[in-house]
Amino acid sequence: MSVHDNLPASNEAHLNGPLFLNAIQNFNEAAKVINCDPNIAERLRRPRRCLTVSVPVRMDDQSVKVFTGYRVQYNSTLGPYKGGIRYHQNVDLAEVVGLAALMTFKNSVLGLPLGGAKGGVCVDPTQLSRAEKQGLTRRYTSEISAFVGPNKDIPAPDVGTDPQTMAWFMDTYSNEQGGYAQPGVVTGKPVEIGGSLGRNHATGLGVIYVCERAMEMNQMKMAGSRIVIQGFGNVGSFAAKFAYERGARIVAVSDVSGGIFNGDGLNVPELIKYVKQTGGVKNFPNTQPLSNSQLLEVECDALLPCALENQIDTHNAEKIKTKIIVEGANGPLTNAATKILDKRGIFIAPDVIANGGGVIVSYFEWVQDIMSFFWEEQDVDAKLKGVILKAFDNVYKFKQEKNIDMRTAAMAASISRLEKAMLLRGLYPR
Ligand code: GLU
Repeated sequence: MSVHDNLPASNEAHLNGPLFLNAIQNFNEAAKVINCDPNIAERLRRPRRCLTVSVPVRMDDQSVKVFTGYRVQYNSTLGPYKGGIRYHQNVDLAEVVGLAALMTFKNSVLGLPLGGAKGGVCVDPTQLSRAEKQGLTRRYTSEISAFVGPNKDIPAPDVGTDPQTMAWFMDTYSNEQGGYAQPGVVTGKPVEIGGSLGRNHATGLGVIYVCERAMEMNQMKMAGSRIVIQGFGNVGSFAAKFAYERGARIVAVSDVSGGIFNGDGLNVPELIKYVKQTGGVKNFPNTQPLSNSQLLEVECDALLPCALENQIDTHNAEKIKTKIIVEGANGPLTNAATKILDKRGIFIAPDVIANGGGVIVSYFEWVQDIMSFFWEEQDVDAKLKGVILKAFDNVYKFKQEKNIDMRTAAMAASISRLEKAMLLRGLYPR
């Protein structure tokens, strides 16, 4: 993707991934807009620490397989490092660096008192048994445990990980700390062990709050609108549910099993049950099959890419037929694609705000763990709405003032907060 979209290459492989290069290209443009201090910009273009670990796991057949895991701590100016852990067969250090950079800019633009990090293991979790997944998680936790902690670095779920993964992480870390429960070391935990109500649906709900606001700003309404969703995991399925409950027609969705289409709108509650039973959206009754590339080109009012990065680039940006794009995934559009879509008048709600619901409620979960005092779900949802729409409205105002696209505006707002904080803290040792 980087080659196609003509991104410059670095000679350091881990700084050369398409996701990171896109983020840095966007960063450089935004830094110009706000006239960012060049010494601060120089520091923000690099991750602070990259940890690579070997993760040996005893498989069910008693053989031992060694997987590679990572934790990248990008920037901690604003608070403890924060960001998810991804289990996917395409995870490598370069991808984790890109995701950690995005977490840094996301936490800053959202106004959270958190730095940015990301972790991952190169593994296809669908090929592991429950016991193997538990073994992998416990050993990965142990390998990175010196670098994480409730005041240091707080992981959370991402693609391929879930509340159960977080429970094993919390248990392993707590045991290594003398057996004292340390719920604040991870977020996205089950509520029974210190998780927050509303965390599991938070990213999908945030996507829909932002989508509604973006529609409002473009003189559109959620009720009766046609929505297409790429990805039906934690983010896509909850986004579908909340949009459906607001009267939208979800006309197409896809996941790794394939894509499905019904012009009258899918019955989302039935689809969610079907996916639980069969493991995927494929062959859901009363639908036509679609390929992933066909799905992105379906005519609609809002397109929600909620799967992986680099899905829309210069090859398909001209073929997208939507009015609004809300980025539920991290980095689903390349920078070059953003420019094409923006010129075509398509409104883009950028990932660092649009999918921020997850980390916003992670922040609430961490606060609740520290206080040992837990909130009602409706309070969590309402506070999430307040934080995410405040960030969205600020960035929208800035975009209008400067006449720039939403992605550049979001990045500019993010860098501006980081710049002020970094200048105040200064450079260590001097
Ligand atoms: N993995 C999610 C993200 O990309 C959530 C991170 C978190 O809650 O720390 O934003």
